[in-house]
Amino acid sequence: MIKGGDVLEAVSKIDVVLFDKTGTLTLGKPEVGAVRAFSGFSADDVLRLAASAEKGSEHPLARAIVKAAEEKGIIFESLTDFKAYPGRGVLGRVGGEEIVLGSEKMLASAGIEIDSAAARSYLSDGNTIVYLGAGGKFAGLIAISDVIRPEAEETILRLKMMGVKPIMLTGDNPAAARAVARTVGIDDVYAGIMPDEKTEVVKRLQAKGLKTAMVGDGINDAPALAQSDIGIAFGRATDIAVESAAIVLVRNNLLDVVNAIELSARTLGNIKENLFWAFFYNALGIPIAAGLLHAFGGPLLNPMIAALAMSFSSVSVVLNALRLRRYKPRAIEKRNS
Ligand code: ADP
Ligand code: MG
Repeated sequence: MIKGGDVLEAVSKIDVVLFDKTGTLTLGKPEVGAVRAFSGFSADDVLRLAASAEKGSEHPLARAIVKAAEEKGIIFESLTDFKAYPGRGVLGRVGGEEIVLGSEKMLASAGIEIDSAAARSYLSDGNTIVYLGAGGKFAGLIAISDVIRPEAEETILRLKMMGVKPIMLTGDNPAAARAVARTVGIDDVYAGIMPDEKTEVVKRLQAKGLKTAMVGDGINDAPALAQSDIGIAFGRATDIAVESAAIVLVRNNLLDVVNAIELSARTLGNIKENLFWAFFYNALGIPIAAGLLHAFGGPLLNPMIAALAMSFSSVSVVLNALRLRRYKPRAIEKRNS
């Protein structure tokens, strides 16, 4: 869904497309894989404490943890003093124990040292790791994987072929981000950045005179979507993102980013052709009707021919515009998403 003609015109001038990772390049339906426990906790403890702390959070990672705990039949504990830090994690008190959950940064800011050697192998597989601190100690980690969208690789390739630079922006850790970037073919990655830093990256690119489009699902990236020249949101994105975006991917398909740019370029080309056809008959007909040829012994223009030429210019403009209906958007085979 393209919100207006000015948007359609602007899209073909885009230099860079910024992609959020979670929920944009990936399906945003993360699943819990490995759960590892440290400091005398059990794996079930880790899942129970983490799920209890995430009960109140809307983050996709939180929902994955809660779902995994529910599937295991784990009984949740009461949560108090809950606080969410966007782009980092959550804090809370579960069954009297002080819980910190989230990225490496989140635990570092709580003064908890993680076992980074244990995390390394999960990270290189592109997993997102959620670390758990309990009572001031490193209690465990949860490796969470998210499936990359099947059309992501083709989308990136087509953008590069059009001369548009794809960039990834993510709050996730650099190792996981790079693994996903490598798979889809993105060379420029900004990882481990906070939501407001995503906006800064957009501003910096704009300051260089580059026209930017940002694609996101609105979870933590709504400000960057609004800052970019063209905000592109998924149809199932948060309301604020859909509201502020210039283009909404109602089919929830990344290839529609490519389609929008192609359609925009064709529409602009069509407008220019139509300007030509609108003026061509007139530029020819009016001087003849005014007696240009007659002055040199040639004919005058019959008014009927003038009327015909007038109609022809309208007909050719309309017919030329209708050719755009034959434009076939690129698609991949239908899936449930
Ligand atoms: P992205 O930019 O890829 O959409 P976010 O900005 O939402 O990611 O989150 C960045 C990182 O912060 C996550 O990869 C995770 O490590 C951590 N994080 C944020 N919120 C939570 C949460 N509720 N539970 C656990 N970890 C979280
Ligand atoms: Mg996101």
